[in-house]
Amino acid sequence: MSNYDTIIVGGGPAGLSAGIYAMRARLKTVMIERFMPGGQMMVTDFVENYPGFPEGIPGQNLSSEMEKQARLLGLEILSEEVLSVNLNAKEKIIATANGEFRAPTIIFSVGTTPRLLNVPGEGKYLGRGVSTCATCDGPFFRDKEVAVIGGGNTALQDAVFLTKFASKVTIIHRRDALRATKILQERAFKNPKIEFAWNSVVEEVQGNTKVEGIIIRDVKTGVTRTIPIDGLFVLIGTLPNTDFLKGLIKLDDWGYILTDEEMQTNIPGVYAAGDCRHKTLRQMVTAAADGAIAAVAAEQYIASLNEE
Ligand code: NAP
Repeated sequence: MSNYDTIIVGGGPAGLSAGIYAMRARLKTVMIERFMPGGQMMVTDFVENYPGFPEGIPGQNLSSEMEKQARLLGLEILSEEVLSVNLNAKEKIIATANGEFRAPTIIFSVGTTPRLLNVPGEGKYLGRGVSTCATCDGPFFRDKEVAVIGGGNTALQDAVFLTKFASKVTIIHRRDALRATKILQERAFKNPKIEFAWNSVVEEVQGNTKVEGIIIRDVKTGVTRTIPIDGLFVLIGTLPNTDFLKGLIKLDDWGYILTDEEMQTNIPGVYAAGDCRHKTLRQMVTAAADGAIAAVAAEQYIASLNEE
């Protein structure tokens, strides 16, 4: 017998929004989150593009408000890691170290993990100067020189954030055009503490007990040079947290979960929402929207089962 109507795996904006909609639909719902609710919101310094906050809002505040809203509606949130998933029967099963959870519907809102460069020295100095989270580690680099790798929204937004602490931020990008949205580009271009190294890739991270510099190569000329830095922020995009779903549901070539417009995967009753899904725009607002759609689809699916 199912002990829940819906199990939500992952507690970022997609999962929390799904939780809010599921609870308002009076579905018996549990959220399983391996760390704490909030996901990427928790490591986002300041959110300026979530509607309703004209002056912006710190990511942690937006996260705690969403969590509060879900908990006030009665959402049960467990801090556990999913060990196995069985999606073969109408009743799906999620197992954690503390037991099995059964429900006819599951919403996977498992998010993404930062991508790494995979160059020599990067792994060795991870946590000792190499970071994938400017919000978490930026304050350690007061009056120091740092480099940011990447040309997307995260790299540009975090480079500007890092200038609050660092004396100089060098953005190293593999092309001569940025992927980031124009407003973030404008801010970076006019910030006197930010310099750009165009058409450049990192060859090696060097140091002793911690990072002391990087070797970069100009991809057009082939010339290499060493830049002395204390911190290296690798902000080159993300990888979906879907390894545990390989072979169980349909993923795209990069591992993102394929869904239809109702967020349903190739398995009836199994949904995906947020950044882990194959989609074009990964934002908090689109994650929250996905979660809402998935929860309503789950509600309708359960209603259809009851009609059978
Ligand atoms: P992204 O948009 O995928 O950009 C990744 C950047 O890293 C690109 O510039 C890419 O270069 C570069 N890159 C990728 N692999 C690389 C490698 N091996 N070596 C060197 N450079 C590499 O990732 P993101 O910036 O983390 O953003 C992820 C998602 O979150 C996006 O959808 C983004 O819009 C969203 N986001 C939004 C905001 C906001 O709205 N304020 C803030 C942060 C993130 P190329 O350009 O050459 O491919």
